[in-house]
Amino acid sequence: MQVLSVLIQHAKTSLDRPFSYLYDGPIQVQPGFRVMVDFHGQKLMGFVEAVDTTSLSKPEFDQLNGFDTSFVSSVVDEVPLLNDELNQLCQEVSEYYIAPKISVLQAMLPSSLRPAVSALKGPKIAYEWWVEAIDSNDEGLTDKQKEALRLIVPNGAVLKKEAGSPAVLENLKKAGRIRFFKKEKERFLVPEYEKEQKPRELTIGQKEAMKAIQEAPQDVVLLQGVTGSGKTEVYLHLSEIYLSQGKNILMLVPEISLTPIMVEYFSRRFGDKIAILHSELTPAEKYDEYRRIARGDARIVVGARSAVFAPLENIGLIILDEEHVESYKQDNLPYYHAREVAIMRAKHFGAKVILGSATPSLETKIRAYKGRYGYASLPQRINAKALPTTRIIDLRDRRIMMPRDTVFSRILHDAIALRLQRKEQVILLINRRGYSSFVTCASCGHIFTCPSCHSNLTYHRNDELLKCHHCGFVTAYPETCPQCGSTKIQRVGFGTERIVKVLGEYFPEARIGRLDSDVGKVRKNVPKILQEFREFKYDILVGTQMIAKGHDFPNVTLVGMVLADIGLSSPTYRASERTFQLITQAVGRSGRGDKVGEAFIQSYNPFHYAVTLGAKQDYETFFAREMQQRKIALMPPYMFLFALKFSCKSEERCVKAAVEFKEAIEGEFAQDVVCVGPVVPYLAIVGDYHKRSLLVKTRKHELIRPRLFELTRALSGKGGVDIECDVDPLDC
Ligand code: ADP
Ligand code: ZN
Ligand code: ZN
Repeated sequence: MQVLSVLIQHAKTSLDRPFSYLYDGPIQVQPGFRVMVDFHGQKLMGFVEAVDTTSLSKPEFDQLNGFDTSFVSSVVDEVPLLNDELNQLCQEVSEYYIAPKISVLQAMLPSSLRPAVSALKGPKIAYEWWVEAIDSNDEGLTDKQKEALRLIVPNGAVLKKEAGSPAVLENLKKAGRIRFFKKEKERFLVPEYEKEQKPRELTIGQKEAMKAIQEAPQDVVLLQGVTGSGKTEVYLHLSEIYLSQGKNILMLVPEISLTPIMVEYFSRRFGDKIAILHSELTPAEKYDEYRRIARGDARIVVGARSAVFAPLENIGLIILDEEHVESYKQDNLPYYHAREVAIMRAKHFGAKVILGSATPSLETKIRAYKGRYGYASLPQRINAKALPTTRIIDLRDRRIMMPRDTVFSRILHDAIALRLQRKEQVILLINRRGYSSFVTCASCGHIFTCPSCHSNLTYHRNDELLKCHHCGFVTAYPETCPQCGSTKIQRVGFGTERIVKVLGEYFPEARIGRLDSDVGKVRKNVPKILQEFREFKYDILVGTQMIAKGHDFPNVTLVGMVLADIGLSSPTYRASERTFQLITQAVGRSGRGDKVGEAFIQSYNPFHYAVTLGAKQDYETFFAREMQQRKIALMPPYMFLFALKFSCKSEERCVKAAVEFKEAIEGEFAQDVVCVGPVVPYLAIVGDYHKRSLLVKTRKHELIRPRLFELTRALSGKGGVDIECDVDPLDC
């Protein structure tokens, strides 16, 4: 009889320990198998962590232990899910990120291989449910139903999961407005690219960077190259070297929209040795790709964050493109950062890690500065192409604005007119979706706020609704003020929709595209709009940060940041860094072709260093300035942060647990930690749960972390309070 130590599928810190189950059957169960178990009356999936055998019978075994141990109901796998390296990685990630091991497994594995009951439902041929409007009349519908219907109508058929919550859609169907239909999910095929005859010659600058990388004694090397300096070509040449030594390559991009471009580069160079792992694949495809990689049939894996866990063996090189992008960090359990995981894996294989960026995160830059990471740079654009000339426009100066306009300066307006005349393209960036930033009553000053989280509501013109960007609440656009009854409702501030509308008034002949997460809610719209812009079907593309990253549009000669400082007021220690990065990336989109580029940055804080240095693309000065700031504020990279998140149905017990936690930590490490809080987080109540958070700052990561790990485990679950820890949090 086998005795199995089983982790239960629920990623709760309080359940993060193995439970014993018995198995007596024909299969030789091994660690890494999944099993079905009965857990307090629930049918759950478990992951076998360790296996023991016993010669006792069940009654004897139970008597020895003093309780009734159950048999597993069934064994799911025939081979272990993870090899030794990934098993060890799982352990290491769990310890570093103070996260339940099962949550790490859920993050590591594709959905059909996850230790979760839902994995069993994954059919081999994937069907998808779509919705289509049959009646666009939205009288008598709830606001949420209107929101969904107004999304579906203009988009034609929409994937059901993109259209709204299942309950909302079900009711819309009952009301006769939409119908559901099922279609086989399109298989994701890597297009067959023609292989290049001969790889491109490197420039002198690129050769020097290659040399610096190869000669660096460190395992991790920062490749800092200005926008348009040809970092991708360096990745390809390095990959060539490692492949020829028989090693494999893991190539990470910050988001899925950038995978196809990278896949194209790698396939043209290396043919069909490539596997892709990303969330657009059907469960069956993901399973196939995963197994193909595990079998050793792929030499290169390209993908976004979770591809860092690809079961690739014999890795020689791991590349993170745009390493500063925050989507490399998962924002729920286990809160891991792909950069740190990549470094853990590289250590195992003795592999090299390349971190590429024009605007490295401060954490990475300081390590390169201190010599913990190696350093290589590409200080010039390819062919010494000039960086765009930039200009900061002071929005506080009304005299330079267009008449009766608060957002288009005359100079930006004229620059756009000139591009339209010359048949060149324009990118306008504003980091807020919707129409206005808030809505107010002109008579009494009442501001429309969200009833559940108190943020200001944003007006969305496309579907005529007010929406909360924090919690998703929607309501009809008000005709009168609830406070004074006045009908003078004002929309204050600007978002993408309003910029498109104003542009249309100034330039009625211009073809204007818009790309933000509202448009991108229907996923296929994103590549479609980018492609159309590349094919010059639009003169102007208006969008949020989605359009600032990575894309190469040779005909764009003007980039305008309409309101460069929206991010500066966000409540995080990274606000300046984000603003600087966004400006630098946006400016870098201009002038990538043969023509010289220009960039205009409009701002209410024209003298803020993130704005002035972003405009100049002066990373080094920004780095020095921001490091001073962080030092004063006791923030990373001077300090390490741990954000502890408490969650409980009782507010009182939630607060009590957070205070107890704080006292325990402070009592033990008075000299070495600073605790901030407990504070009420932005989303104070989610569902029935009250939230509190506690920030622990320290310089002694290695000293504090193991203790936090123990405390979290010891205290989580007590009194119904669940505790999660976000290690190295980005938002606080
Ligand atoms: P980055 O990622 O650093 O912003 P890219 O990799 O997009 O820069 O390269 C910028 C442009 O330069 C691309 O159009 C690329 O095709 C071109 N390029 C890169 N390396 C070379 C080279 N060695 N010779 C000619 N063109 C190059
Ligand atoms: Zn009013
Ligand atoms: Zn809200």
